[in-house]
Order: sequence, then structure tokens, then C-alpha cells
Amino acid sequence: MARIKIDQLSTVYPNGVRAVDSLDLEIADGEFFALLGPSGCGKTTLLRTIAGLEQASGGSVSIGDKDVTSFEPGRRNVAMVFQDYALFPHMTVSENIAYPLKVRRQPKTRQREVAERTAGSLSLGGLLERRPGQLSGGQQQRVALARAVAIDADVLLLDEPLSNLDARLRLEARTFLKRLQKDIGITTVFVTHDQAEALALADRIAVMEAGRIRQLGSPRDVFRRPSDTFVANFIGSTPMNLLDGTIENGSLSVAGATLPSPVDLPDDTKVTVGIRPEYLSLEPAGQGITGTVSTIENLGVSSLVTLECPDGSLLGLTVREQHEPAIGSTVTAVPEQGRLLLYGKEDGTVLR
Ligand code: ADP
Ligand code: MG
Repeated sequence: MARIKIDQLSTVYPNGVRAVDSLDLEIADGEFFALLGPSGCGKTTLLRTIAGLEQASGGSVSIGDKDVTSFEPGRRNVAMVFQDYALFPHMTVSENIAYPLKVRRQPKTRQREVAERTAGSLSLGGLLERRPGQLSGGQQQRVALARAVAIDADVLLLDEPLSNLDARLRLEARTFLKRLQKDIGITTVFVTHDQAEALALADRIAVMEAGRIRQLGSPRDVFRRPSDTFVANFIGSTPMNLLDGTIENGSLSVAGATLPSPVDLPDDTKVTVGIRPEYLSLEPAGQGITGTVSTIENLGVSSLVTLECPDGSLLGLTVREQHEPAIGSTVTAVPEQGRLLLYGKEDGTVLR
């Protein structure tokens, strides 16, 4: 087990793409850390650079107290699970799991013992003699995970390991993964483009864009207070409302309404107002934003109601199904105390 320390790390591909760009990051010993970001932001490259499968163009990677930047992948004591699992189709489950031990020339009895123990902890006990082709997607995923943890690696790197599973299996695999990680306490970096997965699993998350980290924090912090409009747009199962606002007479003017401003700003300051649909509620009275119900979308237990406001802007809020307003009716959406965020117009960073 070990912490990971990344200093000013850059990875530039031969074609000039700077996939990781002067990135600093420290991941604590035993931490479950998620790297989150849209496709192409550099998540896989960062993971592969930590593993030594890509060479750093600048900066350093340390694992434990060793600077491993110039180490071959095999000397980094890192285990990695790829998105497509990369199982050996001609080998049994047992042989797949034990493969890293075989490569390290461990005795056959030891290989068998580790395969059985690891398989048992991932509910693969009865499947040791099967080949990958005879397994479900979820089982294959667990074999890949079992193979990764069969050696006592310092660090576990997971590149979108759940993305090939359907929704139910993904949820099940999440539970396995979380339990396994806590049981063996291995420092884990989990890459995903799925914000819900990152929020659910990780101790801390980093949101990446274009090779850099935009925000780093606990899932709760990042959800409640995205540090800029990029992160605000990316996090949340329903997108955050981002509306144009202006400070007038010390108050916030937004979507045709006047609300108390959460930050003291000079009059005429233009801002972007951020409020999550989950933090708005329909109230018969109260200081809120009034609009006409234009659409209602079913989200399962709740519904996403979109209001058209007097200035033409659209405001989304979630309500329980039984509280759905009528389409065409005029209602007032009141923000929960302390949930309104203001972002600067220029750089989109949070002002409060
Ligand atoms: P992510 O995993 O977040 O989707 P990647 O790390 O795969 O992102 O890619 C980051 C950037 O690097 C993208 O612009 C991608 O096109 C580019 N890239 C990835 N792999 C290579 C490669 N082998 N050669 C050149 N460019 C690459
Ligand atoms: Mg990737």
C-alpha cells in the first residue's frame, strides 16, 4: 500500500497532443480516488502514465516514497484493470487470476491457493474451471479484478472497469468493488466518465478537463459547490441551472425575479447564477422565481419540471410525481436556503 504523488506531470503524444498538462495530484494511502471527466480529457493517459505504460514528458510520479518516473511498468508494483478486461480466452478463470503469480514464478500450489481465495472473495468460487467465454459480463469483470489484486500491488488502477456492464450489473459490481477495496485497503484510482459512479464510490474525486484538474474534493463538496461552470455542467444527474443574473440595488436579479444575493457585489455586476434542480421547490409563497410550466419529464420517482420565466430563460426543478404542477400553470420555484451559487461571467469560477 502506498500513496501516489504526482508533480507537474505532462504526457505529450508524438502527434503533439498534450493529454496530461502540468498536473499536480496527491492520493493518500488506502484512498479510493476517482478521476472523472468527459471523453478525451486525459483520464486514460494519466492512468497509463502512473502505470508506466506511457512515458512522462515532464514532471514526476512517486509511489510510496519512491520516484518511479523512470521505472519500467513491471517495477512499479501497480495492478491495472482495463475497460475491456483483457482476459486470456484460452485460460480458465483460475489460470487467469493466477497469471501474475505464474509470471513471477510462484509455486503452483501458491497460485492455486491465491486463485481460490481471491475468487471466493469475489463470488467466483464455483467458476474456477470455466473459460472467460462461458461467463457473464459481470463475472468477467470480477475475474479481471481478481487477477489485478492477486499480486499484492501497492496501487490499483481501474480504467472505466464498469462501463461495459448494464445498469443492474454495474450497481452490483460497484458494491463488490467498494467492498474489495475497503477489505484490502489498496490505494485505488478509478477512472470514469460517469459522475454518479464517481460520487457513489470515491473518497475524493478530481474532475478533469483538457489534461488538467478543474476541481478536487469530496463527492459532497464537488456536488454542492462546483468550483466553476464546467464542473457545474458535468456533475449531477440533472444538469445544474445556469442563468444570467445581474446585481441591482444590492439584490440579485435573475429570470425576472429579485432574490437576496448570496455574495456582496457591486451593482451592475453580471454573474451566472447556478442552482441545482434538486434544490428548488414549488412553494405557494416565498421569494423565488416565477414561471410557466412548459414541460414535465419523468425521472422515475421524481419528475423534472421546466419553467419558462418572464425573461425567456428556462429553469428546471425536480418534484415528486404526486406534486407535479399542471402544464401551462404559473408557479414559483423557491431555492433552498444557501444553495444559490454565483459564478463570474469572465472565467466562470465560483464567487460563493
Ligand atoms: P480519456 O481517457 O479521458 O477519454 P485519453 O487519455 O484517452 O482521454 O485521451 C486524451 C487525449 O489524448 C485525447 O485528445 C486523445 O485523442 C489523445 N490520445 C490518446 N491516446 C493517444 C495516442 N496513442 N496518440 C495520440 N493521441 C492520443
Ligand atoms: Mg479513457
